[in-house]
Amino acid sequence: MSILILGSGQLARMMALAAYPLGLNVAAVDVNTLDVVNPITKAVIDVSLEQAIEAAQAISVEFEHIPQDLLDKVNASGKLKPSIESIMAGADRVKEKSLLSGLDIANCAYNIITHVDQLDSAVENLGEKLIIKASRDGYDGYGQWRLATGADLPELKAQLSQLDLEKVPLVAEKMLKFDRELSLVGVRDHKGNIVFYPLAENLHHQGQLSVSIAPAPKVDEKLINQAQGIFAKLAERLNYIGVLAVEFFQMGEQLLVNEIAPRVHNSGHWSMQGADTCQFDNHIRAIAGLPLGSTCVLSPTAMINIVGYDDFSKELLSISGSHLHWYDKTVRPKRKMGHLNVCADSYAALGQKLLDLAKYFPEEHFPLLKKEATRLLGLD
Ligand code: ATP
Ligand code: MG
Repeated sequence: MSILILGSGQLARMMALAAYPLGLNVAAVDVNTLDVVNPITKAVIDVSLEQAIEAAQAISVEFEHIPQDLLDKVNASGKLKPSIESIMAGADRVKEKSLLSGLDIANCAYNIITHVDQLDSAVENLGEKLIIKASRDGYDGYGQWRLATGADLPELKAQLSQLDLEKVPLVAEKMLKFDRELSLVGVRDHKGNIVFYPLAENLHHQGQLSVSIAPAPKVDEKLINQAQGIFAKLAERLNYIGVLAVEFFQMGEQLLVNEIAPRVHNSGHWSMQGADTCQFDNHIRAIAGLPLGSTCVLSPTAMINIVGYDDFSKELLSISGSHLHWYDKTVRPKRKMGHLNVCADSYAALGQKLLDLAKYFPEEHFPLLKKEATRLLGLD
């Protein structure tokens, strides 16, 4: 059996690495050139897109921003998992917001902006601290603008008036003072069974995920039930098959959905070492119609993204419980180059390992590492 993934970056690579031991072969589509490529080597495979679609038994995506004509073409094969509706809701913040509202799922207060002058009423409705997001094609904090004070509004309007907002509207959100960011990664199979990973706590730097800790510390049953209830509502409504990630802002005891990702997710990478079956394995199982694997946690795990940087000593692997996953990409600022998973027996032990790790990494690239290490040290 073969699987086709739309997108040929690190997520396709890690799905392929999880699929091979199951006896499943994976090809990927470079969505810019439409070449069919090997997801590990990126070498072009000598088959047409049409032949690859025909040969595949299941087709999935590594990211949601797939050109519409390609998505439609693949959808027509009847092999696309998750559903096209799920992928399009993840790709378009306007659709995503209406999905959430339609299901009565709490999310961040927002206004849709199709003309810059509507930003004046957004400030009136939501306050002067706003985060403004392009409704399509944004990721890792790209396609976002922040308004810190009403005094900066004229300048921001001038900047945004360059965009075609009729074509790609903006979503202006109230800038929240949340307690922390959590995410729930889960997987639903074709029979409707759902298994969940534990909530992960996510720390961002410059709008981009930097560190995830799983299981998130200080999480009670009520919070877990709330998160899983929201996930199940979404997954059932979308008749979802595969891994789905839901990002939350925690405000007191309430979870507000920030966004959903209809795919394997960066905040689930810890599961490669920290859980019995990792998210990539479970996504492949789900789309291939195989039984889901146990999501049982093996140990508290930290995932550290290595972003825009490759100049470190692999001696860091001498830290026990550390595992490097390198994506084999050319270094560029803000580019995710790889990640490290670090496992330990307790949060305090994890904190100590992160302190050891910080010696290998310059603080400018890993500004949260020491802070997080110190916090974890105090937890047990
Ligand atoms: P990613 O691809 O990393 O998930 P993204 O570009 O899709 O990011 P968001 O997840 O919407 O964008 O925003 C990135 C980060 O910006 C969030 O994780 C959070 O730290 C911050 N952020 C987003 N929306 C808000 C908000 N309404 N209030 C405060 N902070 C926010
Ligand atoms: Mg996000």
